[in-house]
Amino acid sequence: MTGLKEDFSTLRLEGLTRSFGGQTALNGLDLTIKHGEFIALLGPSGCGKSTALNCIAGLLPLTGGRIMLDDQQVDQLPPEKRGFGMVFQNYALFPHLSVQKNIAFGLQMRKVPRAEIKSRVAEAIDLVQLGPHAKKLPGQMSGGQQQRVAIARAVVLRPPLVLMDEPLSNLDAKLRLEMRTEIRRLHQSLGLTTIYVTHDQEEALSLADRLVVLRGGEVQQVGTPQELHETPTNAHVADFMGYRNLFDGVVEQVDGRTAKVALLGTTAHGTAAGPVAAGDRVQAGIRPEDLTIADAGASSTLTIDATVDVVEYQGREFAVEAHVGTGESVHVRTSERPSVGSSIRLTADAHRILVFPAEGEPAGSKADGSVKLETAGVAR
Ligand code: ATP
Repeated sequence: MTGLKEDFSTLRLEGLTRSFGGQTALNGLDLTIKHGEFIALLGPSGCGKSTALNCIAGLLPLTGGRIMLDDQQVDQLPPEKRGFGMVFQNYALFPHLSVQKNIAFGLQMRKVPRAEIKSRVAEAIDLVQLGPHAKKLPGQMSGGQQQRVAIARAVVLRPPLVLMDEPLSNLDAKLRLEMRTEIRRLHQSLGLTTIYVTHDQEEALSLADRLVVLRGGEVQQVGTPQELHETPTNAHVADFMGYRNLFDGVVEQVDGRTAKVALLGTTAHGTAAGPVAAGDRVQAGIRPEDLTIADAGASSTLTIDATVDVVEYQGREFAVEAHVGTGESVHVRTSERPSVGSSIRLTADAHRILVFPAEGEPAGSKADGSVKLETAGVAR
């Protein structure tokens, strides 16, 4: 029962599709993963992340597409023949076996010689820093320690690919941060290739070399953390990348890549992140940290007058929720504490406002001769 070769150069997912009955959970995922890459599959609950991971692992048969490890087609192989390492949210350890024995189990199944099992298990225990706990049972350890055992158990097999499904979601915030660093360290020091499923954009951005954002089984965007952060391809990706303010608006005018948009009872100049024309319905995305509380008389390419509803202290900053005359909410991060009920004037630079075609709106549908824009440099 040995797995696939560890030293492949690319893993290609070609049109990966999986339906349940008539419902498509994953629709045509294409991705070429290089050996040593850390890929995050990111998206809200039900977007098809786990389905994708389970298809890659061989736990779910594909209903379309194929998986190629270099020139070998592997999607017909059962999970044990693929030999990919799996780490789940619920650890899935054997409760009656010690840490050592849990980690040794897969090697024993593969009939690895005893002396080699001993040295590889010891090395794996060292890697995840569980030396003092080697003889304990899983139930005698914290969630973070159990997840370390699960990771050691996966990597001790030297798998060609490690698949992780929300491995940190059962841990508290502090431990999550620590384990995040740990996972990245192990990935690098062992030269692993990792696919990591999460709904947490911060986790995905900090861990992955590239992210795949999914929605309703469809790929929305593939790119490096920086590409997704700076040039999200649509409002959905922007929402995931921290554009908490997404305002509905209508384009009044387009000049090069700058679009003047009527929104929130005022107008804003923003940067078009897709093809938009005068008359189009759009969504304008602004990060809370890109809005500035200005003096009452200040004017800018965007000025929003709002009334403060909620102020949350968040360490160095305050997260402020305010409402405008139309009733819509605006989220701002600021270093100065405004008082609840006070009036504030908000401004933002045009290049910090991204203008996306509204969902379901054919690009330039109400075009009146204005210039069509090319999409911002978005990597696929
Ligand atoms: P979560 O983060 O909540 O696990 P996810 O992004 O991993 O969500 P999936 O578990 O992949 O989403 O599910 C994608 C879609 O497929 C959902 O609509 C889900 O209801 C459906 N689905 C998943 N597994 C099955 C199944 N065994 N039978 C029927 N439908 C399923």
